[in-house]
Formats: sequence, structure tokens, C-alpha cells
Amino acid sequence: MTAKRIDGKAAAQEIRQRVAALVPQFERRAGRAPGLATVLVGEDPASAVYVRSKNRATAEAGMTGFAHNIPDTISEDELLQLVIDLNADERVDGILVQLPLPSQIDTARVIETIDPTKDVDGFHPMNAGRLATGLPALVPCTPYGCLYLLKQELKGLSGLDAVVIGRSNIVGKPMAQLLLAEHCTVTVAHSRTRDLPATVRRADIVVAAVGRPEMIRGDWIKPGATVIDVGINRLPSGDGKGRLVGDVAYEEAVEVAGAITPVPGGVGPMTIAMLMRNTLVAAHRRAGLADPEGL
Ligand code: NAP
Repeated sequence: MTAKRIDGKAAAQEIRQRVAALVPQFERRAGRAPGLATVLVGEDPASAVYVRSKNRATAEAGMTGFAHNIPDTISEDELLQLVIDLNADERVDGILVQLPLPSQIDTARVIETIDPTKDVDGFHPMNAGRLATGLPALVPCTPYGCLYLLKQELKGLSGLDAVVIGRSNIVGKPMAQLLLAEHCTVTVAHSRTRDLPATVRRADIVVAAVGRPEMIRGDWIKPGATVIDVGINRLPSGDGKGRLVGDVAYEEAVEVAGAITPVPGGVGPMTIAMLMRNTLVAAHRRAGLADPEGL
């Protein structure tokens, strides 16, 4: 059996088009376009690429972008002041501080300083707590994108066995909360998990968010399972450009799974699409409007 390839690029494009179609309506009602501020500290090439893509997507959606590119010599107090200024700026509905931050800066402090209503990354403890307790929240973009793909792929998630590999605040933990809210039986595996292959073999849904190239092998996958590969790992290649692979050994897993996301072209594009969606939702909530329908 060869698994269906889940096309995250197409799904992301659809979401971005739907967001763009809803922006003029918001503009008419609120008297301004939704605004997203991005903060890039330093010149890490991967972070710079991500932030450029986010800024481009913001403009393509018809939203107002506020791009702050800051040298990595900035002090923690200066960065916190920038966040405080963005919190106070009425034109800004979403604030995205690209991680990782330089070592002199306490990332948790920065995240906790972001106004939770503008926390479009969904990393603020207030949003994490709301998600965990089943209240409306701004949900981290990557796991939200994974959930969207799973719901599109499977008729219903209720009662399915899901294994999330990785327990980061950015991906693994919120992913587990989202699957639990969909009535899956959720196992969260991590670096201390005993017999990971056996744990994964039980799963109808596998979400891999580890950061280890092709660690999850084909013979760990239950036949017919749905596999979501969050990993983005760059391996050396002959042409010197590097080759992107996920956390799942795709060529092996595709022979066993029912459906699987490729890397690239799976989860990656969904993250930006969900950021656009979160920004539009944050703008509606801040303007006292009901959440936009059809997202
Ligand atoms: P992270 O913070 O480094 O967390 C990695 C998790 O994997 C940790 O919980 C760690 O366990 C676990 N782990 C490490 N080695 C393991 C092993 N041998 N067996 C089982 N679990 C193991 O990473 P992250 O930020 O969640 O990102 C994970 C991957 O997703 C990375 O490749 C990243 O580039 C990618 N990513 C992609 C997107 C996207 O847009 N597609 C967005 C975010 C991240 P411990 O907690 O025990 O250390």
C-alpha cells in the first residue's frame, strides 16, 4: 500500500485565500486593516527566511505589516520596551517575536510581556492555559495547522489513538491538547520514553515533532495510520544547498501509512497560513466582533 500524500501547500493556500477574502469585510467594519508586527532579532538565516515569508504573507492577505529587524546586541529591557510599545499600538493586532532569541534575553519574559490578545503565536501562558482548559484561545500555529490537516484527512478523530513525539511548548504540548479536545486517546512521547517504536506502533495518528532526521522508521508505523511530520532537518547534499528531510523516514513510512505529510510541502506552509488566520481572529476579537466564519 502506498500512502496518500497530504498536500499542506494546497491546504495552506486555500486558508490564506479565505483569510484574504475576509480582510475587506473587517476593514469596512473596523475602519482599518488587521495589523501584524514581526520582530526579528539578529541575523540567523533560517529565522530571517521565516520572518520574510510571514511579512510577505501579511501583505498578500491585505493586512498591514510592521516589520522590526533588530541587531542581536539589543538588551532584554530594550526588547521588552518594544513589545510594550506594540501592545499599546492600536494598529497592531498580532505580535510575533521570532524565536530563538539571543542568549542575553529571557525568552519566557518576552513571551509573558506580549498582550495575550495579540499573542498570535499562542505561546503566552494565558493562551496555553486557556487551550488546556477548553476556553477560546489563540492556538500555536504549527500544531493548529497539523490539526487542520488531520481533520481534513480523517472523517472524525474521536476515540483514535494518537502519539505525539516531542513535548515542546511550541509543538508537542499544544498538539496533545488539541488532540485531547478532539477526543483522541493521547500519548506524548519524548527523549525518556521507553520503547518508542512500540509506542508509535499503537497509534492511528502519529505526530512527529522531534528535530531528528528520519528517526521514525517505516516499521514503527501501524498499517493505515495517518502520519504528520513536523520536523524540518537540513542534511548535506551534493550541490551544497542542503536537503530538507522530516523526522519520519518518508520513503519507508509511505509504504505503510494510510496518509502522510511530505517534507517540504506538508506542515511547513500550514504554519504561516495559521498565523494569518490567528491575526485575523485576533483583530476581530480586539475590535469586539464575532470570530470570522469559514476559517
Ligand atoms: P524541541 O523544542 O527541540 O523539542 C524536541 C522534542 O523532541 C523534545 O520534547 C525532546 O524530548 C524530543 N526528543 C528529542 N530526542 C528524542 C528521541 N530520541 N526520542 C524521542 N523524543 C525525542 O523542538 P520543537 O521546537 O518542538 O521542533 C521539533 C521539530 O519541528 C524541529 O525539527 C523543528 O525544526 C520543527 N518545527 C517545524 C515547524 C514548522 O513550521 N513545520 C515549526 C516548529 C518546529 P525532551 O523533552 O525529553 O528533551
